[in-house]
Amino acid sequence: MTNWAGNVAYAAGEAHRPESVEALRALVAGGAKVRALGSGHSFNEIADPGPGGVLLSLAALPAGADVDTAARTVRVGGGVRYAELARRVHAHGLALPNMASLPHISVAGSVATGTHGSGVANGPLASAVREVELVTADGTGVTITRGDARFDGAVTSLGALGVVTALTLDLVPAFGVEQHLFTELPLEGLDFEAVAGAAYSVSLFTDWRDPGFRQVWLKRRTDQPLPAFPWAAPAKVALHPVPGMPAVNCTGQLGVPGPWHERLPHFRPEFTPSSGAELQSEYLLPRRHALAALHAVDEIRAAVAPVLQICEVRTVAADAQWLSPSHGRDTVALHFTWVEDTAAVLPAVRRVEEALEPFDPRPHWGKVFTTPAALLRGRYPRLADFRALAQELDPAGKFANAFVAALLDD
Ligand SMILES: Cc1cc2nc3c(=O)[nH]c(=O)nc-3n(C[C@H](O)[C@H](O)[C@H](O)COP(=O)(O)OP(=O)(O)OC[C@H]3O[C@@H](n4cnc5c(N)ncnc54)[C@H](O)[C@@H]3O)c2cc1C
Repeated sequence: MTNWAGNVAYAAGEAHRPESVEALRALVAGGAKVRALGSGHSFNEIADPGPGGVLLSLAALPAGADVDTAARTVRVGGGVRYAELARRVHAHGLALPNMASLPHISVAGSVATGTHGSGVANGPLASAVREVELVTADGTGVTITRGDARFDGAVTSLGALGVVTALTLDLVPAFGVEQHLFTELPLEGLDFEAVAGAAYSVSLFTDWRDPGFRQVWLKRRTDQPLPAFPWAAPAKVALHPVPGMPAVNCTGQLGVPGPWHERLPHFRPEFTPSSGAELQSEYLLPRRHALAALHAVDEIRAAVAPVLQICEVRTVAADAQWLSPSHGRDTVALHFTWVEDTAAVLPAVRRVEEALEPFDPRPHWGKVFTTPAALLRGRYPRLADFRALAQELDPAGKFANAFVAALLDD
């Protein structure tokens, strides 16, 4: 079994797809090392229980997306993907505040790694979660609700506390979105705050072959004013962010309004997202460093461009989850879609990490990075609280795979 990208072969000894929560509880209680698997879209070993361990997919559990229209919440099963959740929520005239670039990913797996979309006022996807239901090491359950002292450790938990069987999310009234694309935005003289704040969600794309950005995607809510965007020319045709890929894979552009879930992701659920043959890395750093960080990457363009398919720059509002890469700081996220060749890509990953080092970068938990765990520990001020929570809920370390153990080691 491999992840979506094919660069990780899970070393687990057993893989199961339980069809009921009762069966899942028994598998958790009976395993020595256990991890839940979402949709497998992470690019590293974060989901792997290791040799002899038990990997549990929740994809066969009842989907259970129960919308409470009065409370404006939805309780969603641990195996459900965003595409399915969005359809069900929209049918009730409600919406999620934001989505990632693709709707193919599972909700539980996404919030576990701090997955995010874009927007200066939009926190990561985990910000919508109000309650987590976990099966813990002995197979019993615990429910942790916003307001509980443990809550800020319990959502972006890297799968280290137990298996999430359900999440309850806050919803907002459904809204419309238009995508307005622009081309060739110069880096020289860039007013990053103005550009990033020009719409509800803004993404900049560059291949770093030349300075500046090849594309800008503005996702404007139709209930908010249409922004002036004097810095680049409007695109005349629909575009895919990855050079050479067909725009038909992407959500509707050219200012055509559509419902939130058909515009907030870049990629349509029925098509392969992104390029489909790739590795990814991403670094999240304080937004006030955005310009300096972009110039630092511009300096090493020659090392980055040959193995890069596309780089995306987004913003994320600060959140409170202890292990969230946007914890406590309004964030700019520099994302790299690399070619599908680990050996060729790793030197460029290291160059990017060196260039961004002065800006206190936190790597995306679900992507390729080489930052040592010892350095990462210093970047998460609430790590000791998370360690204590993991000790409380999983004293024997059943869910502490090598990825998590390296981080939590003293
Ligand atoms: C093409 C592509 C585009 C992407 N775009 C974005 C983007 O726009 N923004 C962004 O931030 N990231 C993005 N990512 C990264 C992706 O969102 C994360 O890797 C995310 O974690 C994937 O979710 P998943 O369900 O596949 O999780 P998996 O990779 O399956 O698992 C991730 C972690 O979650 C844990 N987990 C999964 N399910 C459960 C559960 N039920 N209970 C407990 N733990 C669980 C696993 O054990 C593991 O630790 C992208 C990835 C790809 C491949």
